[in-house]
Amino acid sequence: MHRPFPSPPFRITKSAYGAMIAHCLREKPIEACGVLSGTDEWALTCWPLPNRLQSPNAFEIDPADLARCLAHIGAKGERLCAVYHSHPTARAVPSREDLRHAPHDLVYLIVSLRTSLPVVRAYRLIDGKAWPRALVVVDG
Ligand SMILES: [Zn+2]
Repeated sequence: MHRPFPSPPFRITKSAYGAMIAHCLREKPIEACGVLSGTDEWALTCWPLPNRLQSPNAFEIDPADLARCLAHIGAKGERLCAVYHSHPTARAVPSREDLRHAPHDLVYLIVSLRTSLPVVRAYRLIDGKAWPRALVVVDG
């Protein structure tokens, strides 16, 4: 059994973090979703994407939207490093659906809007289990 530990904390710039939270609040009560790009361990840019399910408790990214986004990320000289989505009324814990569909090679961020102060948690999802990942917001 392989554990994703020890691994360094996942770092996200203040500007990308702020853009992600703002997007999630804007879409409430619908789940917001998007990706972060940068390096493997450092998220620099937030890319909000449409939730094609327009659901308060599920999300799905259109592959065509993702392909367009990946082209922009490549043009910027960055790489895809994380996927995020919001839980408008639930805790920042992966749902059974999240565990089933999440990509295993990316950091998985969940933004909970359940309380007035948004809560963000990072995970690696491996073998159908969520392993918490330390998250650090850095200047930039
Ligand atoms: Zn979820």
